[in-house]
Amino acid sequence: MTHIKISLKHFLFAAFAALSLMVGTIAWAQSGARPVIIRDTEIEDTFRGWITPLLKVAGLNVESVNLVLVQSDQVNAFVAGGANIFIYTGLIDKTTGPEEIIGVLAHELGHIAGGHLIDTRDAMRKASYESILGMVLGVGTAIATGQGAAASAIMSGSSSIAQRNFMAHSRVNESSADQAALRFMEAAHINPSGLGSFLEKLESEELLPLDQQSAYMRTHPLTRERIADVETKAAASTYKDTDLRAEWKEQHARMKAKLSGYINPGRVPWVYDDRDQSVAARYARAVAAYRQNETGAAIKGIDALIATEPDNPYFHELRGQMLKDFGRVAEALPSYRKAVTLKPGAGLIRADLGHVLLESAGDNKQTLQEAIDQLHRALQEEPRTSRIHRLLATAYGRLGQETQAKLHLAEEALLQGRFPYAKSQASAVQKTSSQGSREWIQAQDILSQAETLENLQN
Ligand SMILES: [Zn+2]
Repeated sequence: MTHIKISLKHFLFAAFAALSLMVGTIAWAQSGARPVIIRDTEIEDTFRGWITPLLKVAGLNVESVNLVLVQSDQVNAFVAGGANIFIYTGLIDKTTGPEEIIGVLAHELGHIAGGHLIDTRDAMRKASYESILGMVLGVGTAIATGQGAAASAIMSGSSSIAQRNFMAHSRVNESSADQAALRFMEAAHINPSGLGSFLEKLESEELLPLDQQSAYMRTHPLTRERIADVETKAAASTYKDTDLRAEWKEQHARMKAKLSGYINPGRVPWVYDDRDQSVAARYARAVAAYRQNETGAAIKGIDALIATEPDNPYFHELRGQMLKDFGRVAEALPSYRKAVTLKPGAGLIRADLGHVLLESAGDNKQTLQEAIDQLHRALQEEPRTSRIHRLLATAYGRLGQETQAKLHLAEEALLQGRFPYAKSQASAVQKTSSQGSREWIQAQDILSQAETLENLQN
């Protein structure tokens, strides 16, 4: 699991897309809220497994939709920057089963399939998730204040006329997204009751003042009529009594356990009874021990889980992460190798393998080269993950391959919205490479993309 903090730069980068990236749904940042993206292969795979049947019946390309986890106590989910569904940990925490998250995901797909997002610019392909998230929060500002980068207004959470108009407009979209969600779940033979039960949970907030309602209420306006409509249709479903797959329930339990151990390790003993020996409970305890730097308990916990499920790639990944973060890099290596063998397509785990190889390489050229190979393979799966470029730059730097190092620093900066730096590195590459060479062309590509994005920003 990796955290990506959103810097102020991202917030400013954010503002550029005020109208280019209008979405059917919008998040208004609340005061003090600092969204953090969590990348976790297991949770992302779980989401993907749940949403794939819905994508198929919706006629959407399975690969085209990305699921992005945001660490925040807020209850929220929305679509932004193309077909990226952002889902907040606060929302997951509020759910009692997979059916509620599936209902929410189906609703977001309803927004995507309904074309409620205006214009997903080509430039967005190169934007990182944190940039997109920053943009969405920036968009909220632009709409609330009628102007661009007034960062202070992000904090106001005001309900201006413009904002109310926007919300009034989107009520139509809400209802059509619900209808689409119910259709998708019916066609995928999934019990649709989770959407209604999740909305019911939120309904009590409707009586609260606007600033105390959950963000989800503001991004997806809720009315009694809307809930009633969803529940009536769900009650008529052929699958209203069909149980969800047991595997999905277990995945939901593990997802909540992992997030609980990760985000609120001190709370784990209260959430999971001591006598609870389920995998989920043990998982929560192992993660909590790791987060609280209890080295012995953490390793013991994860080793016991591996003994229960020797072929679970995420357990090996977590063991590797623990050892890496405890400073035992050499010991982390076999765990990451095992995880990658079990899950070859997981770019994030492969990136961690590359990271550990790099850290344990010293001046060993062969190990450095292996790190580079692994990182390039990781990049194929994870083209928007700027961290991989940073690791590659470091590895190439150690091998004395300065041109490659500069190119990756430029790519990293491009993803993070640091355009002047991206351009300076790319220009430096062009000065030392012959025109038309591979490096020169890559540098040219970076320069023109930086130019395009910078122009959008102004
Ligand atoms: Zn909605």
